[in-house]
Amino acid sequence: MIHRNKQTLQMPSWQNQLSDAIKSPEALIKALNLPISLLPEIEKAHQLFPIRVPLSFISKMEKGNINDPLLKQVIPTSDELIKHANYTKDPVGDAAAEKTPGLLHKYFGRVLLTVTGACGIHCRYCFRRHFDYSASNPGKQNWLDCLEYIRNDESIFEVILSGGDPLSLSDQKLAQLVKQIAEIPHVRFLRIHTRQIVVLPDRVNDELLQWISNSRLKCIFVIHCNHPAEIAEDTTRALNKLQSVGVELFNQSVLLRGINDSCHTLEQLSLTLFESGVKPYYLHLLDKVEGASHFDTPEYMAREILDQLQQRLPGYLVPKLVREIAGIPYKSPVSS
Ligand SMILES: *Cc1c(COP(=O)(O)O)cnc(C)c1O
Ligand code: SF4
Repeated sequence: MIHRNKQTLQMPSWQNQLSDAIKSPEALIKALNLPISLLPEIEKAHQLFPIRVPLSFISKMEKGNINDPLLKQVIPTSDELIKHANYTKDPVGDAAAEKTPGLLHKYFGRVLLTVTGACGIHCRYCFRRHFDYSASNPGKQNWLDCLEYIRNDESIFEVILSGGDPLSLSDQKLAQLVKQIAEIPHVRFLRIHTRQIVVLPDRVNDELLQWISNSRLKCIFVIHCNHPAEIAEDTTRALNKLQSVGVELFNQSVLLRGINDSCHTLEQLSLTLFESGVKPYYLHLLDKVEGASHFDTPEYMAREILDQLQQRLPGYLVPKLVREIAGIPYKSPVSS
């Protein structure tokens, strides 16, 4: 039994949970009863992009199952060491879209702020695994420059907070930033792209709900959920709380080989999410980022899965299958 000192007791529960997250190969193996023989392989890829998994996400995995679809999203493997000609460090052309440090303006009317490099979880397929957050770190001056950019472009009606995971920031910082955004009259929507609702449901606390309720901006959350097993009672409760303060909920997933590349899994994902008030938004083909080629699903298979989904689900539960092509001013649809 670990006794916490006073200081940790005073931190919000979600911050304690973040500091208690699994961050080493040994701890991951132990928490899930995995064979110790995996250690050298895990360690190698962990050097490239370190492990991070909150215990609440671990609790949704099946112990001892190396093929658990949640585990596969977070366990470093030797496949990540494979270099592949088409896989680069900046597959979606973010560097070119950065107008001022921390602000990406790629699409009409919408800007994306990378407000933090930190995430509650490290997903092995992440296209930001090589992103240089230290260079576009949102210090105070950067925020001022971002706000200035938004103020000067009246076509911007939506500000998207992204990262990293924007909900890694404290509620105090977020409340302050959102207040400043809301002072810009032409901004109408605030969108938050986050995986924390799924991997750290306690992140939805009273303070968060408060700054959302206080804002004049229409608030949209896009939760990043890839598999129905990621949704348990704790996540549903968090989603219900967000809905109770008027937040619109959408989901985007990445199509991941061996994890959710089947009609059955994606069908269950849409149904489960909708029961919790979340509508499907995008299903992304994998961005070709170095170290993630083993997650890629060939396009013909993606089209087939989409076709099957269309045969089995109402239109409102079929996500848009898209891919991001550097230089194209929207997510490009891929049709069945
Ligand atoms: C994906 C993305 C958006 C949002 O695109 P939507 O189609 O509105 O969801 C905005 N800015 C950037 C840089 C993006 O990558
Ligand atoms: S940015 Fe999203 S996909 Fe990437 S590591 Fe963070 S939570 Fe995972």
